[in-house]
Order: sequence, then C-alpha cells, then structure tokens
Amino acid sequence: MNITIGHLYPDLLNLYGDRGNIQCLKKRCEWRGIRAEVKEFRSGDKVDFQDLDIVLLGGGSDREQMIVCNKLKEIREDFKEYVESDGVVIAVCGGYQLLGKYYQTDDGLIEGLELVDLYTEQKEGRLISNIVLKSDLFDLPVVGFENHGGRTFIGANKPFGKVLYGNGNDGESGYEGVVYKNVIGTYLHGPLLPKNPQVADYLIRKALERKYNRPMELKELDDSEEKGANDYIYNRFVKKAE
Ligand code: GLN
Repeated sequence: MNITIGHLYPDLLNLYGDRGNIQCLKKRCEWRGIRAEVKEFRSGDKVDFQDLDIVLLGGGSDREQMIVCNKLKEIREDFKEYVESDGVVIAVCGGYQLLGKYYQTDDGLIEGLELVDLYTEQKEGRLISNIVLKSDLFDLPVVGFENHGGRTFIGANKPFGKVLYGNGNDGESGYEGVVYKNVIGTYLHGPLLPKNPQVADYLIRKALERKYNRPMELKELDDSEEKGANDYIYNRFVKKAE
C-alpha cells in the first residue's frame, strides 16, 4: 500500500515547524510497511489533488496568510472537490482559519477557501496556552499548544474536541477545532501529530480507507512514550485544575 501526502505552501505556512507533522505521518506509515511519498507545493505551483491522499495546511502569521490568500483562489475549486469526495485534510492554526469563509484582521479581510462553513475574527489579546481536549474520535485526550489572535466560529459544525484546559476556538464556547467529513481543523500547532499519534493514525487510516475503498485497521505501534507524556500533561493541567 502507499499514500501521497501533500504539504501546501511550506514556504509561507510553516509556523512552529509544521513539517514535523509530515515526518510523523511518513514514519508511522513506513513503520507499518506503507509507502508514503511527500509532495511539497510552493505558492504558485499547480496542485493536483487527484494524486493526494492527505493534505496538510500549516500555520502562518497574519502577513503570510494575507499573501497566501491570493494563491488559494487558484486552487479553491479543486480543493473543494477533494474535500467533498472525502479527501483527508489536516489544517493547523492559520491553515485552519483559511478553511473558512474569511479571517477578519485589524489590517484587513483575508478571504478563505470556503471549504468549511466557519469564519474567524481577530479580537484583542492573543489566546496563548497549553491546551488539552477530549475528542469523540479518540480515547486519549489530545494535547498541545495554542497561540492565536483569531477567534473562530464554527456554527453548527462538529468541533474537534471539548476543551478540558486552555482556550480553544474563541475562548468562550468551550470547544476547539472543527471536523467536517475527513477534514480536521485545529489551533494545536507545532508537533500536533508527534504528540498525538492517535490523530496521526486516524488521518492515515481515513486516507487508506478512501484510497483502497475498504475498512482498514492499522498495526499497533509502541506509543508508550507518547502515552506517558499525554498522561503527564493531562494530570499536570486538567487534574490539577479540577
Ligand atoms: N495568524 C493567525 C492568528 O494569530 C494564526 C496564527 C498561527 O498560525 N499560529 O490568529
């Protein structure tokens, strides 16, 4: 088996080392004998979504998001088709905001891809915190770090998780991220997937199921280190606050 992972605009959207998430997906595939090819698309490159099984859209500063926004118009239609045909997407922070209709900043409006019915508005003060979520998709909590000025409103969409510690989408709703079809959008940037192998495996499994058109079960890997760290973070932030 093999999959192709597309990294969109690593030249502009690579805040906090989103590339590490790609490495994690690739390694977890290889450890199971699944070949994983990574294709990087820089701004201006043509993106052939038909060849892709997982798409990663990383984080960026407002300035970079503004630049990338013009490039997005060129791929919007094909990207939409990919999402509607159950293509797997992981969009982090700035990338998450770009999934929606717009991101209103103090310096202007950044138009999004309109792949998911959501929008973002910049408000005073940044939401910076360690964060722990409980997502319906996994037994283990999802742990990470958030740093965003934008507040995201997801309407009737399903959130990625319930915030157990931290701020989440807007600091008030108690929810974080979004799940739409096989798209996950989240504010948890940096090493989201290395810290949360359950999320990496979810993406890989969904990609394989779509590609090979049958249910898949991934071989278990030794994630004892990650589980230990997850436990530590849960106890440190959630248990302590209870
Ligand atoms: N520029 C966006 C914000 O501040 C996203 C930042 C990020 O990707 N970390 O809300």
